[in-house]
Amino acid sequence: MSATRVILVMHKDDPCMIDSNLMEKIVSLCKRRGFVFPSSEIYGGLANTYDYGPAGVELKKNISDAWWQYFVRSRPDMVGLDSSIILHPKVWEASGHVASFADALVDCKNCKFRTRADHLIEEALPNVKAEGKTEKELDKIIEEHKIKCPNCGKFAWTAVRRFNLLFETKIGIVEESQSKVYLRGETAQGIFVSFKNIVDSNRVRLPFGVGQWGKSFRNEITKGNFIFRTLEFEQAEIEYFFDPESNNWEELFEAWKKDMWQFVTKILGIKEANLRWREHGNEERSFYSKRTEDLEYNFPFGFKELWGLAYRTNYDLKQHIKHSGQELSYTYPQSGKKIVPHVIEPAVGINRLMAMVLLDAYREEEDRVYLALPPRLAPYKAAVFPLLANKPQLVEKAKEVYAHLSPHFTTAWDDRGNVGKRYYSQDEIGTPYCITVDFQSLEDGTVTVRDRDTKEQPRVKITELADYIKKQIDA
Ligand code: ATP
Repeated sequence: MSATRVILVMHKDDPCMIDSNLMEKIVSLCKRRGFVFPSSEIYGGLANTYDYGPAGVELKKNISDAWWQYFVRSRPDMVGLDSSIILHPKVWEASGHVASFADALVDCKNCKFRTRADHLIEEALPNVKAEGKTEKELDKIIEEHKIKCPNCGKFAWTAVRRFNLLFETKIGIVEESQSKVYLRGETAQGIFVSFKNIVDSNRVRLPFGVGQWGKSFRNEITKGNFIFRTLEFEQAEIEYFFDPESNNWEELFEAWKKDMWQFVTKILGIKEANLRWREHGNEERSFYSKRTEDLEYNFPFGFKELWGLAYRTNYDLKQHIKHSGQELSYTYPQSGKKIVPHVIEPAVGINRLMAMVLLDAYREEEDRVYLALPPRLAPYKAAVFPLLANKPQLVEKAKEVYAHLSPHFTTAWDDRGNVGKRYYSQDEIGTPYCITVDFQSLEDGTVTVRDRDTKEQPRVKITELADYIKKQIDA
């Protein structure tokens, strides 16, 4: 598959049709149907920030719930955590973020366009991996290949400079006594600093993992790839602690790769052809990591990191031991042996998963657009319509059906326009089942249940409706 994907699935049996505007279509659908809005729009918007509307907040929550269920709740070797966004500033000194959590940027002296040097190079030279290179190396590549500014076409770059990504803020109301703190740049450090409390308060035994999901913040220069890269985003990270003398790290690493692949393909329903693994080379990989691999998705702007997997050794815990002076080790209950455990870290952004889910589910047919979302992810599992909004008996019966379903599933109500228009809008939201209450419903207690993907409309008894939908969703 080419680096710049322009694939649009037109029909589920007709996998790949070219569409160069897929991202624009998704952005427009997201606004039209209440998934994602540009943030602060009435004030002209704020770059790289987005608000999640009624359909978007449901979809995003379903993705994070699926992640939590799959990786935390259903595993005996995992526990969860919800640590603070604002941690002690020393956390970020110990972790290395204050010193080196920085992007290498260049500015065009002609038009003032600012961009990440690695992105500039990788776009101009698709076979070069620039992440992890030094400022000098980046300067050299830009100079050697005379890479022009994508904005004005001139070759007039400043030298590459590093800018820290941590968002700074202050604690304290009185200016003189304020102290500088950071909004967390990743959720992972919260896990390391709570390690002692988790071990002391739980019966966790190595190997075990701690999962955490929540907001992270990065002062990034982005190229406006919608919700792929934003200033604030939801991260879902796991630190899987183990003793390298008892567990083979390579085997654990492979097991995590398998689980991540399984989650993306089976739970999120992503096509395998749009996924690949890419191992970091020596330059790109952090010095303490023994292996890092990215699970990449074929976004419309190329294969890009979706989910990172890194064997970070015991670097982070050791750093926190050094900086805090505390003992952050694990003691074997039988032998009393103490070790500082190593970790494997699978780290993903929920918003990036959501961008992928929307892109992968987008379908166009001659007369409609629909999102073929796995039912468990769909914002609404069912929508209920009275055939005619001006017939009180139909409206009353439809309300009964709504009341019958809504305790079981997120259910939408729609009585605007005609049934065709309602199908059209529910298709775009990805609602798998549309239920219409018609005159026959008043006589025999059945309704039509229209399937989003096949458009078939079997009649189902209202009393059996919740079970019917549940069965289809669980299938
Ligand atoms: P990238 O190379 O894309 O900047 P990264 O290597 O800095 O990502 P990590 O620090 O490993 O990312 O974070 C783990 C995951 O968090 C990423 O794989 C991605 O899914 C998500 N993520 C990171 N930065 C952002 C962002 N600014 N917006 C949305 N998601 C993000």
